[in-house]
Amino acid sequence: MKTIISLVFAAVFFLGTTNAQNDSDLPQKTTIKAKETKIGTIEVSLDLTQVVDDKVPVVIVPERFMQDTVIYRMPKVIPGTYKISDFGNFIEDFKAFNDKGEELDFTKTDENSWMIPNATELAKITYLVNDTFDVENTEGIATPFSPSGTNISEDNFLLNFPGFIGYFETFEHNQYQLDITSVPTFTNVSALQQVGEMYSKDSTSVTRNYYAPRYFNITDNPMMYGDFEIEEFQVGDIKVVLSVYSPNKVHTAKDFKETIYEMMAAQKTYLGDINTTARYDIFLYLSEMDETSPTGFGALEHHTSTVVVMPESMPFEALAVSMIDVVSHEFFHIVSPLSIHSEDVHYFNYHEPTFSKHLWMYEGVTEYFATIFQIDQGLISEEEFYTRIMEKIQTASGLDDTMSFTEMSENVLVSPYAENYFNVYQKGALIGMCIDILMREESNGERGILSLMKELSLKYGKDQAFEDDKLFEEITAMTYPSVGEFFETHVIGTTPINYEDFFEKAGLEFTESVVETNYIQNNGVLILAPTEEGTIIFTELVKENSFWNEQGALPNDVISEINGTEVTMQNAQQVFTEVYMWEPGAEAEVKLIRGEEEILIKTTLTQSYTKGRGLQAKVGASKTQVELRNAWLKG
Ligand SMILES: [Zn+2]
Repeated sequence: MKTIISLVFAAVFFLGTTNAQNDSDLPQKTTIKAKETKIGTIEVSLDLTQVVDDKVPVVIVPERFMQDTVIYRMPKVIPGTYKISDFGNFIEDFKAFNDKGEELDFTKTDENSWMIPNATELAKITYLVNDTFDVENTEGIATPFSPSGTNISEDNFLLNFPGFIGYFETFEHNQYQLDITSVPTFTNVSALQQVGEMYSKDSTSVTRNYYAPRYFNITDNPMMYGDFEIEEFQVGDIKVVLSVYSPNKVHTAKDFKETIYEMMAAQKTYLGDINTTARYDIFLYLSEMDETSPTGFGALEHHTSTVVVMPESMPFEALAVSMIDVVSHEFFHIVSPLSIHSEDVHYFNYHEPTFSKHLWMYEGVTEYFATIFQIDQGLISEEEFYTRIMEKIQTASGLDDTMSFTEMSENVLVSPYAENYFNVYQKGALIGMCIDILMREESNGERGILSLMKELSLKYGKDQAFEDDKLFEEITAMTYPSVGEFFETHVIGTTPINYEDFFEKAGLEFTESVVETNYIQNNGVLILAPTEEGTIIFTELVKENSFWNEQGALPNDVISEINGTEVTMQNAQQVFTEVYMWEPGAEAEVKLIRGEEEILIKTTLTQSYTKGRGLQAKVGASKTQVELRNAWLKG
């Protein structure tokens, strides 16, 4: 996955709501042994024509159980995300029936689980599903990361199935037949292969049938139904299907086609002979940013698709740049974790997941690829690449640099690790960069992190897991002792990386400079803070943010209103995410409170700058240094 705004920011305001209920509500482990191993089909139907109050009716028809008790579960956590989703919280009116249509008893054992004691009689389960987007901005409700969430509205259904369909414990490997009924006028795109289609007699509805070999495939293949646009195009041997839902028709799928094509073609060239898929789906949901809109911007990866959520109000140019960063990241997940992963990922437990040590690789190396391929393939300049690396170093400096990365990975759901998760996209990527430079140095430029990942994907691939505790040893044996030492010191160990040492090898040096920044951070570090009174104020750092400084904002000014919206602790996440997205040229109106005084700033946004460090090629770098740099940046 890729989240594009710092969770540090979210954590500042929301510590205690999103990750609070971790350990206390873990249900007691209930193990039920299936008496028979026969693989029966679980039939699921969703009827999008019968939505009442934004709720979709779902019917589950399992094969007859031979055991006394069975547990039906919605996922607590889903693969690729590192937070609790609790999809059970979005289920209402759960009912279990026997053959005669009589209701059976059941017990709800936790947020996500329903225990049915008379399992041999169970013929059918029905319930209603609420969407997650509607309540994302409601205080005190933990919701899934937006790209894994669900939308149910008149003209759009974002069907991330962990939000709609559960599994019977110990029957996760049973096959599923999925029927979706909708009005015939809806456009529909599915990452899961359609196997049939039937119109109702009066042609007012159509039911499409899909097949999934096991529960995992249900969760790994999102769909979109409703009123949206599709563009299909070929990138080498991959058919790309781009679906774009823009509620106010601001952006079209056509707008993005060229950008995505160019990007994916470059990714394919960069990756070379790594096996990919025959079809890749990109679902882009653009958020209107009202009370019931999603604000978790970014994307989640699947084996053959990705779901992206971005603000609709973002100007096209900026959106295109973000799409390149986000979608390229998701596509690179084809390498890891999709083709290189440990047992925790391979046998993912949706209810009591354990986490791998290797987020530095799953998210870090993936993010590094999404950055380096752009310079390698000439999509960005050397200077732009250095700027992005420096942004990562700067943002990482605001997080805990002495936290063991492996320890954080394994405990990512709980504090204080959860608040440092965002570092996987910063320090995680920089870890990938350092290994790349080390390997180039050791091999006269011949080998790097990409060749290492290719070797690992050949060795394992999507059907075989590596042993979590052995990976470092294995990589060290495949590469050089210096790489093993690096893992020991900076990934397992708590010693911060001195990036200067690595840049020195490539003949680069730091410079003091003025850098572009946004309106809530100085070069990655927040310039706002919550107060005990429940307000949000500017910190001392506001003086070094050129835009606010020119507007006369001062430390301790309370930010009371932004573009007509009163700022509260509850909507801070949403409001400041919007400010984070502001672009020069737009109009802004901000009300500040300074003591008794009210100050109104009404202006056209200009680019904001702050002091920062830059990175540049050293004059007089040696031939060895220049050669290493070229091998590193241009493969
Ligand atoms: Zn990711």
